[in-house]
Amino acid sequence: MQEIHAVVAGAGIWGCTLARRLAEKGMKVLVVESRPVVGGNVRCEIDPETGIEIHLYGSHIFHTHNDKVWSFVRRFVEFNGYQHKVMAHFKGKTYFLPLGLSLINKFFNTELKPCEIAAFMKDENNSKAIFDAFFRGYTSKQWGRDPESIDPSIIRRVPVRENYDVNYFNDYNQGIPLSGYNSLFERLLDHPNISLECGRAYRIGDFPGTKVYYSGPVDKLFNYKLGELPWRSLKFETETLDISDYQGTSVINYPDISVPYTRIHEFKHYHPECKDTMTMAKTIIMREFPAAWKNGDEPYYPISDKSSQELSGKYLEEAAKIPNLVVGGRLGGYKYLDMDQAMAAALELEI
Ligand code: UDP
Repeated sequence: MQEIHAVVAGAGIWGCTLARRLAEKGMKVLVVESRPVVGGNVRCEIDPETGIEIHLYGSHIFHTHNDKVWSFVRRFVEFNGYQHKVMAHFKGKTYFLPLGLSLINKFFNTELKPCEIAAFMKDENNSKAIFDAFFRGYTSKQWGRDPESIDPSIIRRVPVRENYDVNYFNDYNQGIPLSGYNSLFERLLDHPNISLECGRAYRIGDFPGTKVYYSGPVDKLFNYKLGELPWRSLKFETETLDISDYQGTSVINYPDISVPYTRIHEFKHYHPECKDTMTMAKTIIMREFPAAWKNGDEPYYPISDKSSQELSGKYLEEAAKIPNLVVGGRLGGYKYLDMDQAMAAALELEI
């Protein structure tokens, strides 16, 4: 490609969506990605032995109530209609996780009706018992700090309901791409106006005079000159087992503090339409261990508190001073974004 009108640095959801929009506007776009492959932390791998799609960075379920996002993403992939359920294993019993009638009635051995839940949970003994069982240990492990000290909006991601709906998300549009997650990124970038260079990290000053859309860590862009933004990381242990079904569902959480991992993913359950895989006498599970982050580790979750928000604000102000530079995405914006939110941000950006 001779002439380049825009550079997209980072080939995750935000970057690939933007690249596609720019290309469809007639601009020649160069996508540079520091990793050898596209897809960011949504990257998957098809296990050669079993054909099972492994979510390399933990389970990803596309879910949204944003109709614009849903229409856009389905131009590139078809979804399989999978509806996400999360279970939690606590003291020998397994519960459906949304904090609703199923969990509460099983935990307390009651038969409460929807209209009785609010009053029941107002009783501090009841709400504390639920919090201590399902949230305290998980949150301490996940964030490496006291649950009381984390941003309450994080725990509020888990739905609270007064009915038996055990869907983990409130979004009516959900699923896993039938052709796999990697195909979403490959198809977003499959446009004559887009060229891709993997294994290349963007640095300020590259591509002078060309507009750059950057979605890597914003502190890294400035060589950490104001300090490092804190992240929480994860480690994974993957195992192939010679049984058809290990846990009967895609994710079981382990909120008990004495269990070192937070959840076990069993990937075949994300593709119930693959009958051969579902019935084969093999399965792949992955245990997820929260981990402290140090520079060089994979960043997963921004640790949002007053000081980190101030610091990310300062970096974003610095970035805004650089002509032709736009910073966004989960890493760039230092925001706990779901996939659809990253896509929405890229669709809404003025280009
Ligand atoms: N959480 C919890 N117990 C659970 C699941 C979640 O305490 O069994 C809390 C925990 O603090 C977690 C947050 O709720 O970080 C958000 O959970 P979510 O499942 O949305 O996390 P993600 O899938 O994004 O890692």
